[in-house]
Amino acid sequence: AAMRETRTKKTKTVCTFCGVGCSFEVWTKDREILKIQPSEGPVNAVSTCVKGKFGWDFVNSEERLTKPLIRKNGQFVESSWEEALSLVAKKLGEIKSHYGKDSVGLISSSKITNEENYLIQKLARQVFETNNVDNCSRYCQSPATDGLMRTVGMGGDAGTIKDIAKAGLVIIVGANPAEGHPVLATRVKRAHKLHGQKLIVSDIRKNEMAERSDIFIRPKQGTDQVWLMAVTHYMIQQGWHDQHFIEANVNFFSEYKDMLEKYTLEYAEEITGISKETLISIAEMIRDADGTCVLWGMGVTQNNGGSDTSAAISNLLLATGNYRRPGAGAYPLRGHNNVQGACDMGTLPGWLPGYQHVEDDNARAKFEVAYGVSIDKKPGLNNIEMLQSISEGKMKAMYLVGEDMALVDADANHVDKVLSALDFFVVQDIFFSRTAQYADVILPAAPSLEKDGTFTNTERRVQRLYQALPTLGDSKPDWWIIQEVANRLGANWNYTHPSEIFAEMASLSPIFAKANYETLEGWNSFFWGSPNGESTPLLYEDGFNFPDNKARFALSDWVEPYSFAEEFDLHINNGRILEHFHEGNMTNKSKGIQAKVPDIFVEVSPELAKERGITDGALVRLVSPFGAVKLNALITDRVQKNELFLPMNSVNKESAINFLTGPIYDSRTNTPAYKQTKVRMEVLSDR
Ligand code: SF4
Repeated sequence: AAMRETRTKKTKTVCTFCGVGCSFEVWTKDREILKIQPSEGPVNAVSTCVKGKFGWDFVNSEERLTKPLIRKNGQFVESSWEEALSLVAKKLGEIKSHYGKDSVGLISSSKITNEENYLIQKLARQVFETNNVDNCSRYCQSPATDGLMRTVGMGGDAGTIKDIAKAGLVIIVGANPAEGHPVLATRVKRAHKLHGQKLIVSDIRKNEMAERSDIFIRPKQGTDQVWLMAVTHYMIQQGWHDQHFIEANVNFFSEYKDMLEKYTLEYAEEITGISKETLISIAEMIRDADGTCVLWGMGVTQNNGGSDTSAAISNLLLATGNYRRPGAGAYPLRGHNNVQGACDMGTLPGWLPGYQHVEDDNARAKFEVAYGVSIDKKPGLNNIEMLQSISEGKMKAMYLVGEDMALVDADANHVDKVLSALDFFVVQDIFFSRTAQYADVILPAAPSLEKDGTFTNTERRVQRLYQALPTLGDSKPDWWIIQEVANRLGANWNYTHPSEIFAEMASLSPIFAKANYETLEGWNSFFWGSPNGESTPLLYEDGFNFPDNKARFALSDWVEPYSFAEEFDLHINNGRILEHFHEGNMTNKSKGIQAKVPDIFVEVSPELAKERGITDGALVRLVSPFGAVKLNALITDRVQKNELFLPMNSVNKESAINFLTGPIYDSRTNTPAYKQTKVRMEVLSDR
């Protein structure tokens, strides 16, 4: 027993299943996970959700990649690291010298650490000399960042998760935090139940937060921007805006008022289907609240007007003085555990680490000195543009880390074709993803429990994670792999631990200037956002992030959603469910999770089921202009009328949502408008 005791160890880690950033101790013995013990995590204390508690056995799944694989004569063959890395370096080097620096694209991951993201952007900019680097925020949160950058100048949550509980009113738009961000949702539920906080939910699906809300609205798909603008307009007309705050803090008020002219309550009622009376009640609730926080997610961002709707949210908060104090402000809900960090680290085509734009001559000059190369002033290609460039035959090679493009990108049938057209494709992952089938070399990476590093959660909080388990087989931490590739291409990197990478990043990024591994030790954390590099739980304390410290009303009109041919008569929504993480590549390999939710289904409203004679469990075929899927119906009043809902956690071509979605994008960021998908439905058989 004594021996067993000594082999048991407790290690602090940060959850990898959503952007809330819960931390806890994981008890392990060799490679066995004994238990997850939440205790002192600054976000969650003693709480976790089902994923954080039970979702970890994927790390010991037999499906883990444990050896590098090289495609030889159409078959994947196990290889040594030396052979795989040399091949990657040789091929990518040849492609760069033959076709030019922009012939290579890199896609980073929101699941790997900050340090690893930093190195991927460095690999892109220093070794390949290209800004062609992006991450999966392109699929979800880029529009939120764009809307915030235009209005308040920083793409992060305005305050902490704890601050949300201090708000008099929480408005949730197009998000389902009870399932997507469970521990954060618990705070809202508690404040609502015990402290009189008001809750407004706008969503087409009646989710758990909607059921708890004081006002629940179901605007027509893609019209949130219109009601947001109409409510703001009405509040200004009534004199309920915060004139004093605007005068002191915000530019372009009169231009903004002019633009709002047409967004009357009558117009909003016509476009959104929400009654004038309800819109007035919303305005009154904002007027009466001591502090309003708006939380939003992909129901907003994954639309052709995703960025402009995000800007409309920020405009509303500016007009009503709801920034610069705890319990007020904008809270885009980051989905992946490190999507915030991936962006902060500069795996974006237009941004260097720490949100320094590539067009900023001083910022670029600093990195040029540090990296010893010249950096292109022009932003690189984003994920979507990279696919475009591959189909045009310009981009020849891609290096993809921890992202399953062939499932996650919209219009998956098209993505399949594009990926097969690459001359050379490197996939670095912990599992053989759907995308990996197109790879030439697959590099086996290690998941978060097997490495040191930091993650940054949705509230901009940087936290350390410590290695709890030895790596499995020959798999390696991503930072090690990236360094080996870089050095084989002529770089001279000598990082022996992620702390050294973090220190380099912080030395080049003013907003991280005062952060380091010592101050982040144990349960400590750091909030980026202050121009002097101090930790700052509340953003914009010293003014907004523009040269005159003033925010700006963004001026953008609503644009109608994409229109489909009449035969596609049903709108299909998609989203997360509590038990699964994203497309399910990790949680599908967790037996505990699988036992709870084995099968994928499509939610059908009782009205529609009756009209079409669909019984619960019937097999249906859904056809969009871009593809088709087949799966069972689940009749539920969470959806209404001609609305369907498909959870996003399928890894099968038969049932994955992206075999229905199409090439429709947010106008400013190229984020796919996944939520603007319509289908027709055929009933194949009864249960
Ligand atoms: Fe993990 Fe998110 Fe659940 Fe917390 S709420 S335990 S971070 S999945």
